[in-house]
Amino acid sequence: MKTSECMLCPRQCGVDRSVKFGFCGESEEIRIARAAPHMWEEPPISGTKGSGTVFFSGCNLRCIYCQNHEIAVSHLGYAVTADKLLRIFFDLQAQGVHNINLVTAGHFAHQLIPILRQAKADGLRIPILWNSSGYESADTIRMLEGLIDIYLPDFKYINPKTAKEYSNAPDYPETAKASLAEMVRQVGAPQFDSQTGLMTRGVQVRHLVLPGHAQESRQILWYLFQTYGNGIGYSIMNQYTPMPQMKDHPLLSRKVTAQEYENVIRYAKQIGIENAYTQEGEAACESFIPKFSGQPQ
Ligand code: SF4
Repeated sequence: MKTSECMLCPRQCGVDRSVKFGFCGESEEIRIARAAPHMWEEPPISGTKGSGTVFFSGCNLRCIYCQNHEIAVSHLGYAVTADKLLRIFFDLQAQGVHNINLVTAGHFAHQLIPILRQAKADGLRIPILWNSSGYESADTIRMLEGLIDIYLPDFKYINPKTAKEYSNAPDYPETAKASLAEMVRQVGAPQFDSQTGLMTRGVQVRHLVLPGHAQESRQILWYLFQTYGNGIGYSIMNQYTPMPQMKDHPLLSRKVTAQEYENVIRYAKQIGIENAYTQEGEAACESFIPKFSGQPQ
C-alpha cells in the first residue's frame, strides 16, 4: 500500500513516503529493530513464555527523554518485506509466545493492515497487540478494527504544556483521548483466559510517572477513571530511566522517587482504581530496556 501524502498520524506531514522520510523518520519501507520473546510486559501479557515483540523503527513522538532512543531516532533497524514479517510472526508463534506485540507500529499502519489480515487468514491464532505511545489518529486506529485484539497505549500527558515541552506535541492530550476512546469502542474491557490468566482482549493503558510530575500523573488517572472507571486496565509505571541526553535537565535527570511513586499509587487506590499493575523500585533500571542489534535475527 502506498503512503503518498502521508497523514497517518497527528503530525500530518503530508509527505510522499516513497521518496521522502516523514517526521517519524521512516519511508514506506517497513523496518524493524528487534523481534523476540520479551518477558517484561505485564504478567498477563508476558506470561511464562514471553510476549512476541516486534519493535518497529522510527517514532512519530520523539520525546526528549526517549527510553528507546536507538530505534526511535537513530535510524536503527532493517527492512522487512511483507513475507518476511509474516514469517517472523509465525516463528514467534512457533516459539510459544502468548501474543504478537507490535511496538510503535503506527507509522506503518497502512502497510501492516493487509499483512495482519493475511496472518489471521493463514492461521495466526495468538492475540495481536498494538503497543503505542498513544499519539495516534483515531482514524488510523479505526482502520485496525477487527485486526487488533489488545491495545496497550501509553497515556503520557494531560497538560498540553508538558506535551509541548517534552514531545513537541501540544495536541497529545486531546489526540490520546480520542484514540483511546476508539480503542475502547473496539475491544472494551480487559478479558483473560480463565485457565491461564493471559490477556486475550481489551485495553490496558500505561502511564509512566515522570520525575517531578506526580500531580500530572494524578490528573491523568482522574481523567481515565472518570471516563472509563474500571472498564480498562491500568499500568502505573516507575521505570523512567534518565538517559545520557537528560543529564542536565532540571527534572528529568533523575529517577522517580519512592515517595513520588507511592503518592500516585495511593491516589489511584483512593479514587477507586482496582485493576492496576504497579512496579517494584528495581524496575527503574536500564537493563529493562531491551538491547537492539539493528540486524536481522
Ligand atoms: S506517519 Fe510519519 S510521515 Fe506519516 S504523518 Fe505521521 S510522522 Fe508524518
